[in-house]
Amino acid sequence: QGKRGAVDVVLYAEGGVANPTHWLMVQAELRHAIDRDELVLHYQPKVRFADDEIGGLEALVRWQHPQRGLLPPSEFLPAAEQSGVIEVLTAWVLRRALEDQAGWTALGQSWPVAVNVSARNLEAPGFPQFVAGLLAEHSTPPGQLLLEVTETALAGDAEIVARAVVELRALGIGVAVDDFGIGYTSLSQLRTVPVSEVKIDRLFVIDLDQDPQNQAIVRSVIELAHGLGCRVTAEGVETAQVSAWLAEAGCDDAQGYLYSRPVVWPHLLDLFLHPRST
Ligand code: C2E
Ligand code: CA
Ligand code: CA
Ligand code: CA
Repeated sequence: QGKRGAVDVVLYAEGGVANPTHWLMVQAELRHAIDRDELVLHYQPKVRFADDEIGGLEALVRWQHPQRGLLPPSEFLPAAEQSGVIEVLTAWVLRRALEDQAGWTALGQSWPVAVNVSARNLEAPGFPQFVAGLLAEHSTPPGQLLLEVTETALAGDAEIVARAVVELRALGIGVAVDDFGIGYTSLSQLRTVPVSEVKIDRLFVIDLDQDPQNQAIVRSVIELAHGLGCRVTAEGVETAQVSAWLAEAGCDDAQGYLYSRPVVWPHLLDLFLHPRST
């Protein structure tokens, strides 16, 4: 606890506020915000190289703050993760994401939904059963949900987290390693944690068409992930050149501003029904 606390304080300081009193205020305010339904989900599509179709939508939380406007997760997630608020927040995000997923499915697009979860969620006893209960409540097939867990979270309490991932996978829920490549124990970890997808961090994807070192790293990640039966998504794809390089290298899916920024989901339905190319 002590070590992780120190790391989080640094992260929060980078987010712009280093004052612990302010932190407690954010936590209390965030609880009220969740009660008052001030959080909103924006969605970013994941695009398949194979057929250029949307392969799923990732939910990204924002806080529509009554005074400060639309806040990005970096403004409030670190405070939430330091406290029980993250459990309330994740439960809210999961419920809303499953409702939204049912919404676009009813309109004819059965895109799976991806939800980001924190290490603290996976460490909470009974989390996989909690998620299974929500799926049942919404009549959502487990394969229509993907949980994204950062590589650093997987490195936390390895045994507890690995067990949670095994249980989630056994329930038929997808699990992705997020921000892959920036942690220290990357490659070996994939053997012990049975994830279904690897998301390569934006850091390796920027300038991928021009940087031989990143090219070597990304090629080996794709090969290793495929060898373990995982799909590979590249995040932060901003240019057609990078996209072309990834398609050529055998990457499965791409996400990034080239395709769409995170937006409210009906907007993506429009984009899908009226393709960009016409
Ligand atoms: P992430 O899961 O790695 O999400 C990708 C982030 O990169 C998002 O930032 C997205 O808006 C941004 N992004 C997407 N494409 C591009 C691109 O082409 N270029 C650039 N420069 N950026 C791009 P966002 O929405 O601010 O989210 C930041 C992080 O907050 C997420 O990183 C995720 O770790 C966390 N997060 C977001 N929503 C949730 C949530 O509901 N629960 C939890 N626990 N974490 C969340
Ligand atoms: Ca993510
Ligand atoms: Ca990511
Ligand atoms: Ca990231």
